[in-house]
Amino acid sequence: MSDFDVDLFVIGAGSGGVRAARIAAAHGASVMVAEEFRIGGTCVIRGCVPKKLYVYASRFADDFADAAGFGWTLPARPAFDWRKLVDAKEKEITRLSGLYRQNLERNKVEIVESRAEVIGPNRVRLLNDGREITAKYILVATGGAPALEPSIPGLEHAVSSNEVFDLTAFPQRLLVVGGGYIAVEFASVFARLGCKVTQAMRADNVLRGFDGDMRAGVRDALRHAGVDFRFGVLPTKIEKTAEGLKAALSDGADIVVDQVLVATGRRPHTRGLGLENAGVEMDAVGAVKVDGYSRTNAPSVYAVGDVTNRVNLTPVAIREGHAFADTVFGGRDIRVDHANVASAVFTTPELGTVGLGEEDARAQYDVVDIYSAGFRPMKATLSGSAERVAMKIVVDGKTDKVLGVHILGHEAGEMAQLLGIAVKMGATKADFDATMAVHPTAAEELVTMRTRSARHER
Ligand code: NDP
Repeated sequence: MSDFDVDLFVIGAGSGGVRAARIAAAHGASVMVAEEFRIGGTCVIRGCVPKKLYVYASRFADDFADAAGFGWTLPARPAFDWRKLVDAKEKEITRLSGLYRQNLERNKVEIVESRAEVIGPNRVRLLNDGREITAKYILVATGGAPALEPSIPGLEHAVSSNEVFDLTAFPQRLLVVGGGYIAVEFASVFARLGCKVTQAMRADNVLRGFDGDMRAGVRDALRHAGVDFRFGVLPTKIEKTAEGLKAALSDGADIVVDQVLVATGRRPHTRGLGLENAGVEMDAVGAVKVDGYSRTNAPSVYAVGDVTNRVNLTPVAIREGHAFADTVFGGRDIRVDHANVASAVFTTPELGTVGLGEEDARAQYDVVDIYSAGFRPMKATLSGSAERVAMKIVVDGKTDKVLGVHILGHEAGEMAQLLGIAVKMGATKADFDATMAVHPTAAEELVTMRTRSARHER
């Protein structure tokens, strides 16, 4: 008989928490998981999943425009109904949330729909009924929350990615603040759905940290879709007026829009969680500090996912949760390898990427070879669309090892997933060259780029 009510108490039923709870239970642990919002977490409820559904919705605009070149005649202006999309999305995420719940219940994980706070190294309190639960281990999997910046008068009129999916009316005019993943994805979606989008950010380009040519490609594609960029500019004030929300910008301009979406990053969700009651250390932004096993400095407390601010992506949180459960309850020894995580930015066209961008590679390696290709995709020959595909392979010039691959184009996310395997295995450029092409595809360019575009030595 254990001295504790449960072996594992998980705070947060998102990607990382649900996986950890389920696997720990499968290993025979008694598990309780607390969730204050909806089972599924950010990814399922107001992140990756609904975002991708909206991306699909937005791309019909291009499909309708492309169809004529292939012999189709469509109504002059196909109509889009925002409410129908929101309702369909809601139905799907409710279904997914139900599946998550079933999965937990099938594994005999007890779900408590309540906020939970840590009151000691082995003790949590449920806020709905004040119950205290003792646990051998506590897993913090509370994710992140939008951080709205800059703090300006009228910021309360703006929305974050939490609210933007469920706007009651489709915004005809939208100001997007920020230039990261969330900002560019929503700018792309809303512009395609027919909204006039203005995007303001403090930097001189979108997607800091990504390969420079890819950043430029995303910027150009969004601009082509109608996004009005204001670089080096942020709002200084937002006012509600009869015409809409009036945003004063730092360059002296005023713009009037229906909604302001602020996407200026996310912060680990640790405030008020009581972690100090267990002596858990956090960093300056409030992220829980963990080691390679997701263990905090408090031996009974672990943390996975965005709350640890390592690589803030759902598959990473899932892997961390799984590794934690296997290590602590399954008698295995698994550290998560955070190197070369492939990811995608779901603008249109998409950006799929794995490994180092050119700039980062040049900062870290003595000799860097670049292979790049830019071309019009085959579909565009008949559709007449201006879409371009860009690809870049970044290679260590001394060892021939592929350090990074970057693709801007249709289904680049799908390509990045497969390239992730090759890069993770340590593929060389010669391995790419030895691979036969699949024809006719865009991806075949990846194995047919024979001529180096540049060599950089330092
Ligand atoms: P990002 O970190 O990607 O981007 C934040 C943006 O806000 C940047 O443009 C940044 O500017 C700007 N910013 C940050 N602080 C300030 C400030 N104080 N004042 C003004 N501007 C500021 O965050 P997101 O919110 O877009 O996304 C959060 C995270 O969610 C991502 O990092 C990613 O991990 C995850 N995500 C992943 C997706 C995917 O995989 N497709 C999709 C959506 C989210 P600057 O560039 O100058 O630093």
